[in-house]
Amino acid sequence: MTSSKNCWSCNKTIGYKDLVCKACGVLQKPVELNPFDVFSLAKKFEINKKILEDKYFKLQSLLHPDKFINASQEEKHFSNVHTSLVNNAFKILGDDVSRIKALLEYSGYQISENESFQDVSVLEEIMELQNMSMSVESESEKKKIQSHLKVKIKKEIKKISQFFNEKKYKDVHNSCIKLSYLQKININLK
Ligand SMILES: [Zn+2]
Repeated sequence: MTSSKNCWSCNKTIGYKDLVCKACGVLQKPVELNPFDVFSLAKKFEINKKILEDKYFKLQSLLHPDKFINASQEEKHFSNVHTSLVNNAFKILGDDVSRIKALLEYSGYQISENESFQDVSVLEEIMELQNMSMSVESESEKKKIQSHLKVKIKKEIKKISQFFNEKKYKDVHNSCIKLSYLQKININLK
């Protein structure tokens, strides 16, 4: 990856990922960045959500429209584009499943969405959980399934973390599919 670029305004050489020119202070043209790079975070599955949030709020205030009232049209436009890129990256990193997909993509693993999921035992398990969650009749029953799901989600996340460490991306992907099913059932229960 390119590590430097020239400021579009003053032409000084600056870092490729720099948001603002160190020489003239002008906001830079948005470049295509991995969501982790948007926040200068290590490309790892485990993420400190507090740090992510802090960085998000810092970028938000840096890009706040009030700061560009007297700026050129270009800068105004760039600040809008940056804002939507930052919002999108924040959404991706804040969600386990989309963060996993972003990391798989970065690792060079091709995700084929059309490929059907073959693990019959997992599908059966999901189906059973789905049926259970749809036939919930009492609050206590619902709580029971929710805590059951919570344990399963935690277990899957632990597995995914381990698979990432071992660079077993196919296994990461399979676990990610299971995780997204579990999370959907959990959300539908609420
Ligand atoms: Zn500059």
